[in-house]
Amino acid sequence: MSKWKDISKIDAHIHLTPDDVIEANRGYDGKFIVNGASIDYIEVMQKYNIEKAFIMPFNDPYMLSMEFTVEAVHNNLLKIAQAYEGKFYCFADIDIRRNIEETLRELNRVFKNEFFIGIKLHPTNTGYPIDGLYYEKIFEYAEKNSILLEIHSYPREILNDDVCSPIRIKKMLKKYPKAKVSVAHLGGFQFEELIGTGVYANISAVLPDLVNRYDIEETNKILRDFGIDRLVFATDYPDNRQLRPEDIYDRYFVILDSMDFNDEEIEKICKTNALRMIGEL
Ligand SMILES: [Zn+2]
Repeated sequence: MSKWKDISKIDAHIHLTPDDVIEANRGYDGKFIVNGASIDYIEVMQKYNIEKAFIMPFNDPYMLSMEFTVEAVHNNLLKIAQAYEGKFYCFADIDIRRNIEETLRELNRVFKNEFFIGIKLHPTNTGYPIDGLYYEKIFEYAEKNSILLEIHSYPREILNDDVCSPIRIKKMLKKYPKAKVSVAHLGGFQFEELIGTGVYANISAVLPDLVNRYDIEETNKILRDFGIDRLVFATDYPDNRQLRPEDIYDRYFVILDSMDFNDEEIEKICKTNALRMIGEL
C-alpha cells in the first residue's frame, strides 16, 4: 500500500501539449509529444489519484501553439481546462520578446478567466535573468494584483549567478516582499539558499536527483527544512532527467513512502498547501 499514491492530491506542476501541436509533430519522438496528450493524462490522473493538476507553459510559444504566440498558447491551455472541467488550472505564459505593455495587456485578458491561477517564469528557457528588468515588471504586476508566480529554478550547480539561481530569486523577494512566489524544482542543487525564505517550494523534477545524490534520509531532511507548510507536491510530468514518463509517479511514491511524513503532513504537501498558495483556502 502506498499512502502517497492513495491520497487524493494535486500535482502542482505538469506539462500537457495541445492536440494540434501533437498532430503537427507526430514524427518527432519527444516526451511532450508522445506523453503530452491531455486525454492520456486523464488516465494517469485516475491511476494515481490526482484530482487536479496545474499546467505550465514554457515561456516559449513554439512549444504550445502552432501560431507561436502567447495568445494562442493561452487559448490552447484554456481549451484543455474547459474540456476537462475541474481537472486543470493553468499558468499564464510570457514571451519576453514582446513589448512589456503588450504582455501586461495579455495578462489582464487572461486573468479575467478563472482557470488561470498564476504566471510561469522560466529564466533558463529565455536565457534572461530572473532579476532582469522585464521580470521586474512582471513581479510588480503580480504583486499588485496578488497573482502567484511560479519560477523555474534548476540552476547549474556550480555557476552561482545562473539566470534562475536562488540568489537572484532572493534579490527579487527582497525587492517585492508581497509577491506570492512558488519555486519549482526547489532551486536544484542550490536549494540551501531558499530555505527560510518562506517561498512555496515544489518537488517537481528534482526529487529523484536529490535522492541519487544524498540518499532518502538526507533528502527527507532537506524537504523538512523547507517547512511542512511550504512544500508542494508536483512532478513535472512527463519531463524528468532520469525517469521515463511512465515511471515518474511510481518512483516519486516509492521515495516519498520511505520518508517520515505523517498523514496530516502528507495531506498538506499533497493538497492544502497548493490550495492555499492559489488562494482557494
Ligand atoms: Zn516544468
